[in-house]
Amino acid sequence: MAASDKFILPIQRLEVALPVSPGSLNAYLVPLRNSAWILIDCGMSSPPALPGPISQIIVTHAHPDHCGAAAKLRAATGAPIRMHRLESEVLAALNEPEKWLAAEDAVLSQSGVPAVARQKIRAHSLMMRRAFGGCTADEWIEDGDLIETALGPMIAIHTPGHAAGHLCFHFPERKLLITGDQLVEHHAPYIEYEPGSLERYRQSLLRLAGLDIDWVLPAHGLPFQHHRRHIQALLVHCQRKMQSVRAAKARTGKSPHDLAIALWGPPPNPFQLRCAVLEVLAYCEE
Ligand SMILES: [Zn+2]
Repeated sequence: MAASDKFILPIQRLEVALPVSPGSLNAYLVPLRNSAWILIDCGMSSPPALPGPISQIIVTHAHPDHCGAAAKLRAATGAPIRMHRLESEVLAALNEPEKWLAAEDAVLSQSGVPAVARQKIRAHSLMMRRAFGGCTADEWIEDGDLIETALGPMIAIHTPGHAAGHLCFHFPERKLLITGDQLVEHHAPYIEYEPGSLERYRQSLLRLAGLDIDWVLPAHGLPFQHHRRHIQALLVHCQRKMQSVRAAKARTGKSPHDLAIALWGPPPNPFQLRCAVLEVLAYCEE
C-alpha cells in the first residue's frame, strides 16, 4: 500500500493489474455498517482479491478496465452491479454491434478516415467487446443518489465527458472523492465525442471544484490532494487543446482524420486512431 494511503483509510485501495495501458487500476472498498463492503470499479480480466463480503459492485463508467471483471465478481459473490443509466445503455448496445458499428463508421467516414483504416477499427471494436466480460447493469445510480456507508453518506455525482454516464462519489463527512477517470493525477482524460461532450466535461470539472475535498481517490495512480489546482490545470489544458485544434482546422482545412495525424502523429493502432479522430471532433465542436 502506498505511503499516502494511510491518510485515506478506511477506504481500501486495491491495485488491480491490467493487461492494457496504464497497467493497473484502483478498485476501492468502501466499508458499510454491517461489516460488508461496496466495491467501486474492479479491473478488466482478473478481479481483485476481496477481504470480505461485498454487497454491491459499482462501476464509475463502462470502460473495460473498470467493468470487465464485474460479471465474474457478480457470479462469485451475488452482489448486484450498479452504474449510471447511460453506461448501461453503452453495454446494452454491445449486443447489437452492427447498429453502433454502422453509426461509428458513418462518423469516421465523414471525418476522412480511409476505408482500410475503418475496416481495422471495426475489427478492433468487435474484438474489444470481449473485454467487457458480459457486464450488465442490475441497478442504476442517478446523480445525487445517496448511499449510507460506515463513513457517512456517499453521494453520486454525474460527471459526463470521459464517458456519458461517468460517476464520481463524494464522502462529505470525510472530505473524500472517488473520481474514476475524471480526475487522475498527471493525466488529462480522453473526451468521448458526442454533441456537447466537451462542454459537459468542463461543467463536470467546475462542479467538482466546488466540493470541499481533502483527498482525491483516482482510478489510476496514487491518491492526491489539491483537487482545485488539478482541475484548474485540466481546464487550461482543455482550452489550449481546443485552441490548437481549431486553429489548425481554420489554417489548413484538413479533415478530422488528417488533423489528428498532423497534430498528434500517426497513432500506434486502429483504436488510437479512432480515439484521436473522435477527440478532434469533440474539440472542434463550436
Ligand atoms: Zn475510462
